[in-house]
Amino acid sequence: MTHELNLKGDTSKVVMRFAPNPNGPPTLGHARGIVINSEFVKKYNGKLILRFDDTDPKTKKPMLEAYGWYVEDCKWLGFNPDKIVECSSRLPEYYKYAEELIKLGKAYICECSKERFKECRDSGLACMHRDKKLEENLAGWRKMLSGGIEEGQSVLRIKTDLNAVNPAERDWVAFRIVKEPHPKTGLKYCVWPMLDFAGAIEDHLLEVTHIIRGKDLSDSGKRQQYVYDYLGWKYPEVLHWGRIKVTEEVGEEESEGEEEGEKVTKLSTSKIAYAIKEGEYSGWDDPRLHTLMAFRRRGITPEAIRNLMLSLGLSESDINVSMENLYSENRKILDAKANRYFFVENPVEILLKNPPLKTVRIALHPSFKERGVREQILELDDNGNAKIFIAKKDSELLEKEGKAKLIGLPCVQKTSLQKNTLEIECIEEKTQQAQKMHWVQDYVKAEVLMNDKPPEEAVKGYCEKACLNLKEGEIIQFERFGFCRLDKKEKDKLIFCFGHN
Ligand SMILES: [Zn+2]
Repeated sequence: MTHELNLKGDTSKVVMRFAPNPNGPPTLGHARGIVINSEFVKKYNGKLILRFDDTDPKTKKPMLEAYGWYVEDCKWLGFNPDKIVECSSRLPEYYKYAEELIKLGKAYICECSKERFKECRDSGLACMHRDKKLEENLAGWRKMLSGGIEEGQSVLRIKTDLNAVNPAERDWVAFRIVKEPHPKTGLKYCVWPMLDFAGAIEDHLLEVTHIIRGKDLSDSGKRQQYVYDYLGWKYPEVLHWGRIKVTEEVGEEESEGEEEGEKVTKLSTSKIAYAIKEGEYSGWDDPRLHTLMAFRRRGITPEAIRNLMLSLGLSESDINVSMENLYSENRKILDAKANRYFFVENPVEILLKNPPLKTVRIALHPSFKERGVREQILELDDNGNAKIFIAKKDSELLEKEGKAKLIGLPCVQKTSLQKNTLEIECIEEKTQQAQKMHWVQDYVKAEVLMNDKPPEEAVKGYCEKACLNLKEGEIIQFERFGFCRLDKKEKDKLIFCFGHN
């Protein structure tokens, strides 16, 4: 089910923006921003801007590689930004408006300590710097810009209503001093705008008409409104939405929730970065992580993510999404697309006695016979028997049940244990019920990287030789195992990445 997405206000020239901080890789929460914004823009024939809100080189320090990841993942999700803006390259623009606000008497340099300012603020009182003369303010501002003031010694505040009900609105900080190098601009600038200020200016300059914003950020709008009023600008229409909380079925812990709460992002970006450096994760696309690049590697399709996000719509309440929701969307898409193959995990050799066929042909896809077949030509020994491989867990089942149905063979087989080797013999036509089992004879070694195990615990086994025709990146279904994406072709084996079953 897809929700109707409607915008309020003037929709004749819709401009929207997706504005991530590139301080980590894109996740499902970001995907939601990309999908919903781009859906609106498509509907109203508008423009969508990818804007990097990267003006915090200290606590939310941008990662240089992440800029490219966002562009890549936007494209992967089917959105080609009409424009890409990096806020960190636009500081002179923000400075210009800061100076204008100072000159209008709507902003001032405050040298209070955080604690002292909070005391004033909480009592609704002006601090001692609020009514400084214009010249003093301008001099203080220029001194900040020149680098002559240390971090924490002064900030530029926007004048607001000191009696505003929410203390967070009262004389908020627009700029502060940060003397950490920025990955894009190095030490060129030491006065950085807070997100509320940079975002306010950018939304106006970029002619943004509609904003989708987390409802927990509704204070931002109230703060920014002052700047818009002072400069005589019209504030964009705002739609609020709740968070999505992504849960994994097992072992879920409460998240601290940044873009969304999920099992792995409860590890902060810096912790994951550290774990990658330590070799605990293979990279940002490690199948155990919930980054979009990890999902892509596992064969989660952009269509599935898109459909999931559209089905969630734009609710103001928080929504819990389980990974199963995502898998179920993906299954709908892959069921028809993915061809079927056999993968025998932890292979056990058994003896197939007198197989009734020598060449076994199985459709690549049961519903699309026109795609052709894969073929296994059985090699027989002098007695007319074939050594084949089945999964260890199937061999255990065989021992217990005594019969099986090897997929592709036109009979049900009875089994017996002979000198520690399972023997299996055709006994009758398709009449009798038996557990279907997959098998291989001529095989290629395969490893499947799982989403709940480290790479060294990848599931090892044999897949049928027809898999050699697959291309890297192709998504298939290993019967009775799950959807997998061919990650890498190595000299003597194929490496797959597990998606889901
Ligand atoms: Zn002050």
